Amino acid sequence: MNIILLGPPGAGKGTQAARLVEHHGMRQLSTGEMLRAAVAARTPVGIKAAEVMARGELVSDEIVSALIDAELVAMGPATGAIFDGYPRTVAQAEQLDAILAGHDRKLDHVIELLVDEDALVERITGRFSCSSCGEGYHDTHKLPQTPGVCDKCGSTEFARRKDDNEETVRTRMAEYRKKTAPILPFYDARGIVTRVDGMADIGAVTDEVEGVLAQGA
Ligand code: ADP
Ligand code: ADP
Ligand code: ZN
Repeated sequence: MNIILLGPPGAGKGTQAARLVEHHGMRQLSTGEMLRAAVAARTPVGIKAAEVMARGELVSDEIVSALIDAELVAMGPATGAIFDGYPRTVAQAEQLDAILAGHDRKLDHVIELLVDEDALVERITGRFSCSSCGEGYHDTHKLPQTPGVCDKCGSTEFARRKDDNEETVRTRMAEYRKKTAPILPFYDARGIVTRVDGMADIGAVTDEVEGVLAQGA
């Protein structure tokens, strides 16, 4: 199965993708994470992307589509893909169709997480993650069970993203409205979009997403 999680920054895409990975052995393909790894490793792509990301603008379609294609090449054909943060433009959606066709895959579901924009700034400015395993947390909605210790791996090191500040978030949201939201009609025309209430508790959102997967391909 191949699915897209769609929604503005902070909607809960990464949180839900991580749960699907655990429950179904699917693979999360997050272009944001791939780009952050490229920035940290100072690869040519990372050097190009760093400033654009710091401003909250979108990296070029060619760069992110090439990253996705490379991940799919490295994945076995039996592993399901969860696209998280990709596609983000109509051009990327068209490129994804071609990439999937090249790997004998087809898109089964697009799940749109519906969220209240005012809540997003609070979600993003409170976001942090484990430096060791990447598990995501939040200052009020999802603290580690033992303060300062990762639930998953026991690490005591955590990190916050540089672009998770209010000013950059506003730019990222404007980019979402202008460039990403227009993807929805593209997929609506195929009848593969399901809308889920992203303001519910993390577990309740997961139940809804699982319900979509249970419908099958
Ligand atoms: P969030 O999950 O908070 O929306 P991401 O981790 O997906 O953020 O993305 C962080 C940044 O990386 C974006 O603001 C953008 O600069 C860049 N980026 C990630 N994915 C894409 C993409 N598909 N197209 C263009 N830029 C992207
Ligand atoms: P995205 O990948 O869409 O940018 P994340 O999954 O990183 O979003 O979630 C953003 C922040 O909000 C994280 O700190 C996460 O722990 C928290 N969060 C995610 N889903 C929910 C939810 N349903 N209710 C409350 N907080 C949530
Ligand atoms: Zn951890």
